[in-house]
Amino acid sequence: MLLRSLQRLMEAAQVVTSNGNADGDYQYEIISWFDSVSKNAAMVQTETLGQILHLNYGVEYLKKWFGDMKIQDMDACALESLYASLVPLASHADFEPFIQRIADGDTAPILTQQPITTLSLSSGTTEGRQKLLPFTRHSSQTTLHIYRLAAAYRSRVYPIREGGRILEFIYSSKQLKTKGGLTAGTATTHYYASEEFNIKQEKTKSFTCSPQEVIFGVAYKQSTYCHLLLGLLFWDEVELIASTFAYSIVQAFATFEEQWEEICSDIKDGTLSSRITLPRMRKAVLDIISPSPCLASQIEAICRDSKASNWYGIVPRLWPNAKYVYSIMTGSMQPYLKKLKHYAASLPLVSADYGSTEGWIGVNLDPCLPPEDVNFAVIPTFSYFEFIPLNKKKQDLTSGTVGYIEDEPVPLSQVKIGQEYELVLTTFTGLYRYRLGDVVEVAGFHNGTPKLNFIFRRELILTVNIDKNTENDLQLAVERGSEVLNKYGGELVDFTSHAEVMHQPGHYMIYWEIKGEVEERVLGECCGVMDASFVDHGYVVSRRTSSIGPLELCIVETGTFNKVLDYFIGNGAALGQFKTPRCTNNHILLRILNLCTIKRFHSTAYN
Ligand code: AMP
Repeated sequence: MLLRSLQRLMEAAQVVTSNGNADGDYQYEIISWFDSVSKNAAMVQTETLGQILHLNYGVEYLKKWFGDMKIQDMDACALESLYASLVPLASHADFEPFIQRIADGDTAPILTQQPITTLSLSSGTTEGRQKLLPFTRHSSQTTLHIYRLAAAYRSRVYPIREGGRILEFIYSSKQLKTKGGLTAGTATTHYYASEEFNIKQEKTKSFTCSPQEVIFGVAYKQSTYCHLLLGLLFWDEVELIASTFAYSIVQAFATFEEQWEEICSDIKDGTLSSRITLPRMRKAVLDIISPSPCLASQIEAICRDSKASNWYGIVPRLWPNAKYVYSIMTGSMQPYLKKLKHYAASLPLVSADYGSTEGWIGVNLDPCLPPEDVNFAVIPTFSYFEFIPLNKKKQDLTSGTVGYIEDEPVPLSQVKIGQEYELVLTTFTGLYRYRLGDVVEVAGFHNGTPKLNFIFRRELILTVNIDKNTENDLQLAVERGSEVLNKYGGELVDFTSHAEVMHQPGHYMIYWEIKGEVEERVLGECCGVMDASFVDHGYVVSRRTSSIGPLELCIVETGTFNKVLDYFIGNGAALGQFKTPRCTNNHILLRILNLCTIKRFHSTAYN
């Protein structure tokens, strides 16, 4: 009985999402829907797995493990335990040959019964290589669904005016055709091109400032200029400023600092800078703009004044009706938070939800929380989630693994507060017991569903020999070092790292792009502080015994990280999904970084 009503709830949510049959009570409905599924999260998960397996019964991948076993009549709970016992945990590498066949045009039911016609490219900036992943209508529907769920929670605290606009720094990637004729692009690109993106705008009655031609320009510098120009033109209608990842907003305002005079001149005369060369983008923007000399001089006055205070609080000054800034600010976006706070001043920052190209995971139910403290309530209807318990090793310095002992995966209903886990997904798009590689910690529960803190991605590890430092450890060390930099008036723009093992002894290299004039003595101090901030036992022991050499700080010239961005964009990434790789072994990237290095410092922390 309960199962049937849950099923109805799940279907109801899908109908609202796909058909857009929402009315004024939608926010109330979606919140009570989430209350209901989260109260019954364990059962909903069992059901969700059952649905995925029934939908994809007989596909090649599942046949490998289930053989000809008839699962249709099986009880959902029995199927859940059978699934965990027969189907192994897998990584992207295990799915790659299957996905490649789909990309090459094999239309047999390989991963899903419904043919897959679209593939997503992950940002590729986390593992250094873009991954191809299946994308289906379900993917767009869940994007719309989580967007509206999160919007319902946000509007309780920060209501926005209907009919207002969103200044969204969003960008599509190139859309490629695979050998088999399938469209491949970033997941966000597919979403912006989907019906769901339009439904979202119509039903939330909030419209993005830029037309499709700007979002789909695939020339991110031109798109950024137009986003800013149109955002200013609609200044009084803008209710919020948003992007997928915080990096794009910081990047956009760095552009604004450089190009505001040109933008103002375009607003004054109703013209468009010759920077915009794409004919479709030019036409679409010129169709919207008209001369607005009064507005231009107001903006100019604000900019002149703000420039004097290093652009502090420029966002609320230009968009006084904006209620908040909305973007992913956690994980690898944390280093941009300081700059974002600087631009936003008193305007609240709301950290956006947790997802991946593989699938959406959790929603931020507490928009008031500062971005540093935000967590994500798992949505139990989106995928079937398992959690691999990770326990830190007690100084097992000889092991080649990442410093964790892994226990058997547990279902969502068995996770414990305070425990760290690696996430495993079984999705409607054909991934089965797929290790996502993200480490999360259970912060608490919303009804029966866990709320997760994002900790870091597992693969990103700096290691020379017995040392193991994660993205988080690196971030902490860089934070310590940049505190020294800030004290002397410098500002860290971006950073990455590399474990140099070609020469003995190996050592860590940290690349910094900085702003402001800072004495060499200070940079030397920053270098030493970072070296001393890696507290991993393996690292400390190796540094003391000199089996790891002194940490090297490489200062790169201004604009180097824009070259890094351009390199990724040239390879099919999109600015909207871009994350600076925090640790790289990529030869081309290292060549860019080394060619751009203007100063080097070696730590004396262990002398
Ligand atoms: P992509 O490679 O573009 O699919 O990026 C997905 C990855 O971005 C996830 O697996 C996480 O590592 C990271 N990510 C996504 N959302 C968040 C978030 N809200 N907080 C922190 N990291 C996130």
